[in-house]
Amino acid sequence: MKADLETGAAAAIEAPRLGEPYLLTPGPLTTAWSVKEQMLRDWGSWDGDFRAMTARLRTELLSLVGTGAEDFDCVPVQGSGTFVVEAMLGSLLPRDSKTLVLINGAYGQRIAKTMDCIGRAHVDIDKGDYLPPRGQEVAAALAADPDITHVVVVHCETSSGILNPIREISEATYAAGRKLLIDSMSAFGAIDVAAGDIRYEAVVSSANKCIEGVPGFGFIIARKSELIAAEGNAHSLSLDVHDQWANMEKTGQWRFTPPTHVVAAFMEALRLHREEGGIQGRGARYTKNRDVLVDGMRELGFETLLRDRWLSPIIVTFFNPADEKFEFTRFYELMKARGFIIYPGKLTVVDSFRVGCIGQMDHHTMRAVVVAAKSSLDAMGIASARPPQAALSEREKLAA
Ligand SMILES: *Cc1c(COP(=O)(O)O)cnc(C)c1O
Repeated sequence: MKADLETGAAAAIEAPRLGEPYLLTPGPLTTAWSVKEQMLRDWGSWDGDFRAMTARLRTELLSLVGTGAEDFDCVPVQGSGTFVVEAMLGSLLPRDSKTLVLINGAYGQRIAKTMDCIGRAHVDIDKGDYLPPRGQEVAAALAADPDITHVVVVHCETSSGILNPIREISEATYAAGRKLLIDSMSAFGAIDVAAGDIRYEAVVSSANKCIEGVPGFGFIIARKSELIAAEGNAHSLSLDVHDQWANMEKTGQWRFTPPTHVVAAFMEALRLHREEGGIQGRGARYTKNRDVLVDGMRELGFETLLRDRWLSPIIVTFFNPADEKFEFTRFYELMKARGFIIYPGKLTVVDSFRVGCIGQMDHHTMRAVVVAAKSSLDAMGIASARPPQAALSEREKLAA
């Protein structure tokens, strides 16, 4: 692995210039200085220059779905990622639709809750904290209920870091003649969702995840036929994707005040993404980040919640150590003092914490994270970070 690390294409990563800690979180995340710099200038939202920027934004994002992109269009939506998930559900799901929601963590649960809020019928498959929904389960659920029209899945379930098998889920969905919507919020830009490769009607993500922009808008990449058919579906004015799309097509403008500075910063983030080799290059850096992190943490005795097969290159969940002297808030503060902000766990059954692999960081940064974890454990008087046996037995439930 060492040789591989040294020969890998070097991404130009620099440490945060103001001395702020690295954000080892799934967004907002550590951004490049040149991205932040773009926010120093003001833009008129109706002006031709900003309209041209919006047009480029849409074209460049669309190109990231690769072959098959010509049948799709990209519509940016103001707000955080949740806003664009809600916009997708409310706009693309007809009022008389019925949706199978696949849940294995907090973001799948949020989708189910959104469906209740906006009054769209749904049935759920809930796999708990860390088991993936599988193709056969989807096929069985669809066969059992002919009223189901759509399936919604989270690509990388950021609460555990599990990478869900969207290919087999897509195959099961379309084999049964239904339609698939994907929340690829934390994966888009680092893990391929090529439209010519995996079939779906729409995919959503936001500015502050793998493209490494700052927070302020999300975007939906949807099949044009679905955008046309979405007219009149929406439960909301501001989250109406059809209306936003139709208006953008006509005037080149966002319907309501756009986050101008965020868009300008995002254009630079997209440039850096291209320069790094696009989805492949970005995905390779994150994968290396994860491998160095996981190897180093295992040397300290830590263990991952997920078996290697389901680990994403986005974020990794580690069990809390069994040692009674371990206390998460203290560990958090010690890590922060060493320049790294980690993330609490989001599981119900076992105690855990998370470390993100995305943002302006490389494998050198991740090695420094491991060194900081070691010295934080030392400061707490903990010799080994081994998790409790119960946590490891829990993990055994994960089928191979
Ligand atoms: C980040 C994220 C969201 C959106 O969360 P916001 O806090 O609204 O930005 C939705 N789904 C997934 C899988 C995410 O990782």
